[in-house]
Amino acid sequence: MTSAVLVTGGAGYIGSHIVAALARAGRASVILDNFQNSSPGVVARLVRLAGTPIPLVEGDVRDAGVLRATFAAHRIGAVVHCAGMKAVGESSARPLAYWDVNLNGTVRLAEAMGEAGVATLVFSSSCTVYGQPDALPVGEDAPLRPASVYGRTKRAVEEFLRDLAGADARWRIAILRYMNPAGAHPSALIGEAPLGRPNNLVPLMCRAVAGEFDEVPIFGTDWPTPDGTGIRDYIHVDDLAEGHLAALDHLGSHPGVLTLNLGAGRGYSVLEVVGAFEKACGRPVPKVVAPRRDGDIASVYADASRALALLGWRATRGLDAICEDAWRWQRAGGRYA
Ligand code: UDP
Repeated sequence: MTSAVLVTGGAGYIGSHIVAALARAGRASVILDNFQNSSPGVVARLVRLAGTPIPLVEGDVRDAGVLRATFAAHRIGAVVHCAGMKAVGESSARPLAYWDVNLNGTVRLAEAMGEAGVATLVFSSSCTVYGQPDALPVGEDAPLRPASVYGRTKRAVEEFLRDLAGADARWRIAILRYMNPAGAHPSALIGEAPLGRPNNLVPLMCRAVAGEFDEVPIFGTDWPTPDGTGIRDYIHVDDLAEGHLAALDHLGSHPGVLTLNLGAGRGYSVLEVVGAFEKACGRPVPKVVAPRRDGDIASVYADASRALALLGWRATRGLDAICEDAWRWQRAGGRYA
């Protein structure tokens, strides 16, 4: 029996697309999720896509007992650690929850991996660790000056993982700094299904156009960018998912710590994304100018050349595909329940 990849947060938006990408590559997954910000219904969809059973462990990544039982019950060869709290705005209001889940969750996981003799870990980090970079595109060696509580938790976990690998040469760790994942699987069977009002731009546009919310707030039109709105590097979630597989393959022959940006390598303003979405759905996006959001920065996009050089990976799906796939998912219901 070949070993499986444990995907923490595997029922979530990015985790579910990683599970689907692993299945496409003929690799087995085990999902660990507490459904805090995801739905059990995703698992049936993944099984349909994969054509094989996918074991699900319902539990919290901070729970040492759950982790120990998971490693005991399944033959796990590697872990992709996506479970965490991820809303920049919310994180400044809930520092305790963000530090507890993101940092303590990773410490407990690493402990359980050590006990189980599993040393290969891919960690979901974020370009928010950079804060506002001095120069763009931002490369992996740029200074880390996160502007939000969320970003500071990610920076801390990165440091923790480097400390681990520094003390024990058996670790094989990939720290993947995501730009802005968006879009959905083209089947529209899985996609982004935030509970409550979405925080992120693309899912909020989906639901606003579908009539579930009044208007999309444009968080600031006075940023130092050409049209005054924030610039981000939007990466299709399937490209992002495939980057994890490439990282796992790389770790197979490279112990130590690998730190990589995963982005498309170009930036779009909020208004450009709104325009692309309007083109994809053929309808106007209702919007209203709002004050800047806490923790936001003006502009960030990635230098993604290290991922290409080391993994042979690059984003292949553009902003139009992101918007078309996100809208197809919304039209199919945009939810699991
Ligand atoms: N944004 C916006 N209105 C929203 C949500 C986001 O104007 O309702 C902007 C946000 O200020 C940023 C960009 O869209 O410039 C992407 O934000 P998102 O929350 O999707 O991702 P983040 O960059 O915070 O990870």
